[in-house]
Amino acid sequence: MTKPTLLAVDDDPLVLRAVERDLRKEYGSSYRVLRADSGEAALEALKQLKLRNEPVALFLVDQRMPKMSGVEFLERAIAHFPEAKRVLLTAYADTDAAINAINKARIDYYLMKPWDPPEERLYPLLNDLLEDWQGAFRPPFEGIRVVGHRWSPMAHEIKDFLARNHAPYRWLDVETEDEAQQLVQQTGTEANQLPLVVFQDGIHMTQPSTLQIAEKIGLTTRAKMPFYDLIVIGGGPAALAAAVYGASEGLRTVMIEKQAPGGQAGTTSRIENYLGFPSGLSGADLARRAETQARRFGVEILTPQEVVGIRVNDTLRDVTLSDKSELSCHALLIATGVSYRTLDVPGCEPLTGAGVYYGAAMIEALSYRDQNVIMVGGGNSAGQAAVYFSQHSARVTLIVRGDSLAKTMSKYLVDRIETTNNIVVRLRTEVNEVRGKEHLEAVTLMNRDTGAQETLPAHALFVFIGAKPHTDWCASIIERDEHGFILTGPDLMRDGKPPRGWRGERQPMLLETNVPGIFVAGDVRHGSVKRVASAVGEGAIAVQLVHRYLSGF
Ligand SMILES: Cc1cc2nc3c(=O)[nH]c(=O)nc-3n(C[C@H](O)[C@H](O)[C@H](O)COP(=O)(O)OP(=O)(O)OC[C@H]3O[C@@H](n4cnc5c(N)ncnc54)[C@H](O)[C@@H]3O)c2cc1C
Repeated sequence: MTKPTLLAVDDDPLVLRAVERDLRKEYGSSYRVLRADSGEAALEALKQLKLRNEPVALFLVDQRMPKMSGVEFLERAIAHFPEAKRVLLTAYADTDAAINAINKARIDYYLMKPWDPPEERLYPLLNDLLEDWQGAFRPPFEGIRVVGHRWSPMAHEIKDFLARNHAPYRWLDVETEDEAQQLVQQTGTEANQLPLVVFQDGIHMTQPSTLQIAEKIGLTTRAKMPFYDLIVIGGGPAALAAAVYGASEGLRTVMIEKQAPGGQAGTTSRIENYLGFPSGLSGADLARRAETQARRFGVEILTPQEVVGIRVNDTLRDVTLSDKSELSCHALLIATGVSYRTLDVPGCEPLTGAGVYYGAAMIEALSYRDQNVIMVGGGNSAGQAAVYFSQHSARVTLIVRGDSLAKTMSKYLVDRIETTNNIVVRLRTEVNEVRGKEHLEAVTLMNRDTGAQETLPAHALFVFIGAKPHTDWCASIIERDEHGFILTGPDLMRDGKPPRGWRGERQPMLLETNVPGIFVAGDVRHGSVKRVASAVGEGAIAVQLVHRYLSGF
């Protein structure tokens, strides 16, 4: 934790140095001692401390300074740090002024110069004050602060990005929190420039892109080398497993992820069916462990960075990244997974990110404490989200098109939903319209059998209605099924023959695409089982196939 500051202010350089020396000697190990030679300079230093959210424990200020007296300074300083203890340094002649200032600047003590010996005349007094300050002190939050409007899609995107990249942050709603207002003022941010992101070192950005944030918090977005043995595209369980196995078996491996390592699994509140975790684990936990493991084996992870193109260059496989840079490799693994289909009903699109969310948006759960939320979908992901949100929200309504949950959802989740009082399941129902001015206010539902409509007031709508693979970027050379999932191995064979354009004597291997040396694992593969364990298994198998390919099989 950052040490609290003791700030000494005096225009006389000799006195200032003496104060600083004495403070450092006694308190240097627990406090940071700063000095300023005028009230103005001290206020400037306070501004920076405030921006960095660093605490000030004590002001030790000379009363007689030419431009701003000690009392004047303290009056202004306490607006920034009302809890800090205040000591005024006075000469004998200023005693009356100091006494008069006790109320005005709420000073705790006035100390006559000189204070020698400090062991007798300074430290006992300061010890007392600092003990008092420590007793009431609550350490401030030390991470990133995000300031914005609750319904801002961009603020939601920033929060999601920080959370998924394990960067601790604090959300400050500009409409309800004083600290948010203060930060807006201190940084001179206009209302139309929000969201504002203030980093720990006091640097701030308005409306930053995730790439700008990534660079500031030290994520790697550019590759160290132009060439790798294995490039893994994606950062979900399939990609992470392939990266771990690839690097641990000696392949120079880079993994490229466009949002945050963890993929869909990283957004999951609880994975209960992953082998080896009898009481389940959160997706974020799984993602963090896997990422750490990958880095330990020397995998280079680029995030956020997107692959936008792919090319065959004789024996090399080249990829183009969204920043136009290119990387080459011997073998390539596509593990780009899927994302939720969008809900195509009136009113939905403009409210996306402002009450309408795709996927579970776990970071939003606390924002909807004691409010009503609606989940759409009959699969496990909707079920998990309903159970998770039921712990925070007043009521969760689960909208399902089919006539039974059991047909599409695991039994353990159906059981959980049936025994949770504040989850209401609406079968044979679909969303007809979504309404709201600046944010979601109501959702109109329709019974599929009777056509009857009903409008429910709602604060949030979470949509889980099937998945769409991320493959448009490679469609020019990779064969896909009619839904966009990538075909591999036996699925590519037509009448016992390899696909058109296939080069080589052998047939495509199990997880190999129609281009030799380009493999696929996880949800993005045609026919895959949409589960974490299967994605991990396929990632590991793909690496074995890469070895066979590299050995000239
Ligand atoms: C809410 C929810 C709950 C779930 N619960 C469970 C559960 O309890 N048990 C279970 O077994 N499974 C569960 N699943 C399913 C499981 O999460 C998926 O099967 C698994 O994550 C698939 O892994 P993947 O690596 O194939 O793809 P994904 O997890 O989809 O990861 C793909 C990654 O690739 C990235 N990407 C896409 N395109 C590009 C590109 N062009 N360049 C760079 N990166 C790109 C994406 O950003 C993403 O991070 C759940 C899924 C969801 C959404």
